[in-house]
Amino acid sequence: MAKRDYYEVLGVEKNATTQEIKKAYRKLALKFHPDKNPDNKEAEDKFKEAAEAYEVLSNDEKKAKYDRFGHSGMGGGGGFGGGGGMNMDDIFSQFGDIFGGGGGFSGFGGGGGGRGSRRVNRGSNIRVKVKMTLADVVNGVEKKIKVKKFINCSPCSGSGAAGGSGGFTTCDTCKGAGQVNRVTNTFLGQMQTAATCPTCGGDGKIITNKCNSCHGDGIVKDDDTIELKIPAGVEDGMQLSVSGKGNMGARNGVAGDLIVLIEEEEHEDLKRDGNNILYDLYISLPDAILGTDVTVPTVNAKAKIKIEPGTQGGKVLRLRNKGIPEVNGYRTGDQMVNVNVWTPQTLSKEEKEIIEKLRGADNFKPNPTDQDKGFFERMKEYFK
Ligand SMILES: [Zn+2]
Ligand SMILES: [Zn+2]
Repeated sequence: MAKRDYYEVLGVEKNATTQEIKKAYRKLALKFHPDKNPDNKEAEDKFKEAAEAYEVLSNDEKKAKYDRFGHSGMGGGGGFGGGGGMNMDDIFSQFGDIFGGGGGFSGFGGGGGGRGSRRVNRGSNIRVKVKMTLADVVNGVEKKIKVKKFINCSPCSGSGAAGGSGGFTTCDTCKGAGQVNRVTNTFLGQMQTAATCPTCGGDGKIITNKCNSCHGDGIVKDDDTIELKIPAGVEDGMQLSVSGKGNMGARNGVAGDLIVLIEEEEHEDLKRDGNNILYDLYISLPDAILGTDVTVPTVNAKAKIKIEPGTQGGKVLRLRNKGIPEVNGYRTGDQMVNVNVWTPQTLSKEEKEIIEKLRGADNFKPNPTDQDKGFFERMKEYFK
């Protein structure tokens, strides 16, 4: 399912203030709160959607990234696992901020499972750096990376108990529920909240016979190879998240995310400038005067360009669509070729004589017309 625009989700304008964003979210959170809509999947989805939108739009850094790259800037899109999103734990922990302390909501416990269900251990996220060449950035790339991470322990199938289900006994305190109920007064009125059982830590059962391989954790460290599909157009410093590829949670938990940090490698000849690529071309004085054809490198191939007779140094030629695709759009940048005219630095006696003759020639005196745009005009054209 395509994600809705975060501004649309909260029903605010792009230039909404922090207060307006907060207010809009608060309204939605109250309307779709699980306690007001028990067993209503649609409300739960709306609740999560609003929380996710608020999470991004209330954070200056995330908001700026979202404004620039859309959903793919947040990870979760563009070939990256989808998913993303927030679980209930994340959402309720966010409430302290939006509903002003209190922590009245924080007792829900259910990591993704919602109320009434046993706690699920969520594994931690793993962060990796991935180096990208300019060609990788232009074309998108698939990479296999090796990570060391926690995976389910196989002798006990992730349960932590030797001999499978035989190694457990049901927790007396919570009778296996993993939670104990508590009535609290909150902003929304009186609410029954569930707190994690202090005896079993939310598992609902207690291991009586621990697995030898994992010592009861249900997870062990091992190597894993992960295939990444990185979309074209990403940028140095950008983070993409692949949901469920991080560390596995203890005792049949759920896995955290893999966070991929993009590192761009510099190209020998080409420089990135946003979605454009810059190239410095040097031509000789006679070529500038008489015109010629030259070949310039682009990311994927070479391009032939025509240098017109009488070309001025500093002219910028644009190779359309030879730049970098927008990560979240349809536009592709251009390659800008900056033409430099090479002035010789040593001359033979004979060359010097020729140039001396030309020095006085009328045609060699600067006489710029409208077509020979100066620096400011060229920059105007470049930035439009
Ligand atoms: Zn218990
Ligand atoms: Zn084990």
